[in-house]
Amino acid sequence: MAYCRKCGSVIDDEAVVGPHCGVEQRIRPAVNDDGSILWGILGFLIPLVGLILWIVWYDSKPKSSKMAGMGALIAILLAVVIWVLLIVFAAVFASTQ
Ligand SMILES: [Zn+2]
Repeated sequence: MAYCRKCGSVIDDEAVVGPHCGVEQRIRPAVNDDGSILWGILGFLIPLVGLILWIVWYDSKPKSSKMAGMGALIAILLAVVIWVLLIVFAAVFASTQ
């Protein structure tokens, strides 16, 4: 349910113009921006998808965008940390030979 942004009367969710006063309604940011943790998990599992969602949803779904971006960022940081550790271990191992 939505309300006319001028007179406050109840209007249809999809209404473009308020039926009572004829004032154009702002299209609500609306589209189910739940900011679900699932977007974070998806971004974590598939960082490329997370980054794409972060960019695509940046304006339209700020909460979900942030979750997806955070998931991707954590996955990338984790991958970098693992690689650094592997390189350090490899260097230590090589130096002991
Ligand atoms: Zn109105």
